[in-house]
Amino acid sequence: MTDLERKQSRHPVPPGWDYAPAPESRDIVRLEDRYGLFVGGEFVEPRSGEWYATLSPASEEPLAEVAQAGGEDVELAVSTAREAFENGWSALPGSERAKYLFRIARILQERAREFAVLESLNGGKPIKESRDVDLPLAAAHFFYYAGWADKLEYAFPNRRPRPVGVAGQIIPWNFPLLMLAWKVAPALACGNTVVLKPAETTPLTALLFCDVLRQAELPPGVVNVVTGDGRTGAELVKADVDKIAFTGSTEVGKAIQRELAGTGKRLTLELGGKAANVVFDDCALDQAVEGIVNGIYFNQGHVCCAGSRLFVQESIADQTVAKLKRRMATLRVGDPLDKNTDVGAINSRAQLDRIRELVAAGEEEGAEIYQPPCRLPERGYWFAPTVFTNVAQSYRIAQEEIFGPVLSVLTFRTPDEAVEKANNTPYGLSAGVWTEKGSRILWMAQRLRAGVVWANTYNRFDPASPFGGYKESGFGREGGLHGLEPYLEFE
Ligand code: NAD
Repeated sequence: MTDLERKQSRHPVPPGWDYAPAPESRDIVRLEDRYGLFVGGEFVEPRSGEWYATLSPASEEPLAEVAQAGGEDVELAVSTAREAFENGWSALPGSERAKYLFRIARILQERAREFAVLESLNGGKPIKESRDVDLPLAAAHFFYYAGWADKLEYAFPNRRPRPVGVAGQIIPWNFPLLMLAWKVAPALACGNTVVLKPAETTPLTALLFCDVLRQAELPPGVVNVVTGDGRTGAELVKADVDKIAFTGSTEVGKAIQRELAGTGKRLTLELGGKAANVVFDDCALDQAVEGIVNGIYFNQGHVCCAGSRLFVQESIADQTVAKLKRRMATLRVGDPLDKNTDVGAINSRAQLDRIRELVAAGEEEGAEIYQPPCRLPERGYWFAPTVFTNVAQSYRIAQEEIFGPVLSVLTFRTPDEAVEKANNTPYGLSAGVWTEKGSRILWMAQRLRAGVVWANTYNRFDPASPFGGYKESGFGREGGLHGLEPYLEFE
């Protein structure tokens, strides 16, 4: 045994060593007992008369009551958005629209801590992620699209871009504020007005964002927020909107596409994924292990582009899995508001049940499970970081999106085999390639059927870079110049 192997065979963290608690204070967040619907620049009571409680998934403690918008509420929000579109917003010069977007971006930066704490409280994600990823990226999206607002003629020369009208936007719970930014920023930059429906489990940062809109003095009615579950989303799809932008599950995406067929309403769909993270034997392995961990355990694996299928070249498979397990043992699972936490709470009871069901299926089908020893809190929704080896491509854990901290490891021998296996999925959102050879990166990127291919990194985002899928991962792009097109009509 070499010195290095001896060192690596020891426990990665000496037993008995513990991190001291480093909790972020909740005091910066001031929650109302109840939130109405944000329509025409004001919070209004829902005509439906229905409310529900939104929880902290880490403690199951109710945080506030939120309106469950019905058909009449959605209609009111859409007609308000239509009025705002016709009475000024669509005719405002791009440079004026840009001013509002710049203001929103700056206010998000100023209030970043408040938003980060609320995001972690309501969604369960670790504070270091909401603080260092969600908030900076959300502000960056507003800055980026503010820059385009007065340059659309240059972005699409000789095509006379015009706004589409009222955009209905439906977003999921995994990146609540960031998904809001991905949707609202390009829509406003192009001169549209918006009715946004946040996910039922994570409405609070979208409701706090309404306060930012008032602070930025955005004209009333340009952005409206209707809360509620899938029924509210379905009402929005039916309503008199010009475009639907949806991020969420493939199943609901398909239902929306069927509903909109033949209506002339525009549609973009950003759906699920089952990304391949492909590790070749010539890669920098320690760096790759960090990328594997980031790819699947970031945000508890609640990530549509998560690297949930790991393909390792056979010659380094044992070594990679050993290093991965060692690294997993250092992940700290627990209180999302603790600054040392790496893996927070699962977003909801329903999602936890789904993860458990698929993990049980993996064990039943014959895969070998490993979870590092970790103490999970008694209350709340938790799932330990998990890796499966001995996985066949036909297993459910290799085919279905788990949307949790669960990785399936498969192997390959040749680059051709890696491509064939990586593409053996109904999805096509993202992929990762780890190799020292630039030529191999390009060779792989040309063959992988995925909207984004990361090379020697994973989960890297930039507002200037378009994001979106193939096949059952949806269509349309968000981010970059491409992200403007779905919100524009051309003469
Ligand atoms: P979902 O598709 O049910 O919900 C996403 C959004 O759509 C929510 O705002 C929801 O209220 C709304 N919605 C639900 N039914 C609707 C309908 N009939 N018409 C219009 N809107 C409707 O997704 P979920 O239940 O939150 O998560 C289930 C699965 O979806 C996850 O396990 C994962 O596979 C996938 N997912 C993907 C992403 C992504 O970013 N691609 C995000 C979240 C969830």
